[in-house]
Amino acid sequence: MIINATFDGGNIEVVSCDNPADIRLNIRTDHNSEFYQWFYFRVSGVNNQPCHMKIINAAGAAYTGGWENYQAVASYDREHWFRVPTYYRDGVLGIEHQPENDAVYYAYFAPYPMERHSNFIARLQSSDKVKLRVLGETLDAQPLDQLIISSEKDDEKGDETAGKKKIWIHARQHPGETMASWWMEGFLPRLLDCNDAISNALLEKAVFYVVPNMNPDGSSRGHLRTNASGANLNREWLTPTMEKSPEVFLLRRQMEQIGVDFCLDVHGDETLPYNFIAGTHGIPCWNEQKLDLHNRFGEALRRTNPDFQMEYGYPNNSAGKANMNMCTNYVAETFDCVAITLEMPFKDTVDTPHPVEGWSPERCKKLGANALDALYEVIDQL
Ligand SMILES: [Zn+2]
Repeated sequence: MIINATFDGGNIEVVSCDNPADIRLNIRTDHNSEFYQWFYFRVSGVNNQPCHMKIINAAGAAYTGGWENYQAVASYDREHWFRVPTYYRDGVLGIEHQPENDAVYYAYFAPYPMERHSNFIARLQSSDKVKLRVLGETLDAQPLDQLIISSEKDDEKGDETAGKKKIWIHARQHPGETMASWWMEGFLPRLLDCNDAISNALLEKAVFYVVPNMNPDGSSRGHLRTNASGANLNREWLTPTMEKSPEVFLLRRQMEQIGVDFCLDVHGDETLPYNFIAGTHGIPCWNEQKLDLHNRFGEALRRTNPDFQMEYGYPNNSAGKANMNMCTNYVAETFDCVAITLEMPFKDTVDTPHPVEGWSPERCKKLGANALDALYEVIDQL
C-alpha cells in the first residue's frame, strides 16, 4: 500500500500504513500557521480490501464542528466524487471504505486543482466579452488572474466602466473552500452565454471584475485558510502588504482606482449544513437601504434555487462590531456599497440532501449560475 499527497492541492502525513484496516494519518498544518482541516490524498494497492483510515489529529483541526455529521469524498477518476462512510469519535476522524480499483483518492471536498483553474481561464478568455488581467504575482510566483467582463471588450480606451455599475466577485480567499471554484464554473459560463437574457441584461448595466481564485498558492499547497506566507487573506483587508498578502493588496488597490458598487465574496463553511449569506450589519455606514438590498438578493436567490435558504447562518454583527479586516466589511464601508459573503457547506444541505454526493460540484455550479438571477433583482438599486 502506498499513500501519497505529492500533487496539486494534496495534503496528508502518513503516520503508519502497514495494515489497511488500521491506517493512521495526520493533516499537515498550513505553512506558517496553526490552521489545518483540508486533506486530499491517494491510496493505492488496496483493491477490494476494506480500508480504515484514521486521521488522528482531527481534534486539533480549525473547526471540529465540521467533523460532526460529515462524510468524506472519494473518487477513482478525480472527476466524479462520492461520499464514503465517515465518523468522528474520540478526536479521530475515521473513513471506512473498500476501494473497487487499485487507486482511490480521498478529500475533504471535491478538489479543484490549479491546472483546472488554468484550463478554465484559458477557455473563457476567448469570449469577446472577456479581458484577462493579471493583477500581479503571488509569493510563489503564480499569476493572480482576473477576468473583466463587459459587453464592450474592444473599447481600446479602457473605459468599459463608463456609466455602468462595478460588480466585484471573488472566490477562494480560503483555499480549502474548493466549492467556491466550482461555483465559479456555473457563474462565469452563464454570464458569458449570449443566449441568456438575464446575463445580457446585466452586462448592459454592469461591468464584472472577477477573481476566480484569490489564493493560488494556498490552493497548490493544500492549505485550508492561508496563503504562502501563512496569512488568512480574509483578515488582511485593512493593512495588506506585498510581502505578506499581495493578493489582497493588488485587488484592493484596483478597487480604489475603479470603485465598487457591489461585492460578492464566495466561501465554504465547515460547520453549517446550509447555503447562506452573511452581511455587513456591524459596519458604521450600515443602513436600511443596505439591509433591504442584502435581503432582496438573498430572497431572490432562495426563490430561484431552493438549495439556498435565509433562515440559518452566522449571527449578524451588532452595530459597530464588524471586523473591518474582513473583505466584505472593509469593502462595504470603504465604498459605501452592498457587500455580501456567500457560504456553501462542506457537508450537505439538511433540507435538500443528496445521499450519494452531498453538496457537490454540480450543485455549486447551479447555485453560481442562479446568483445572476439574484443580482438581476437588485442591479438597478446598487
Ligand atoms: Zn472562507
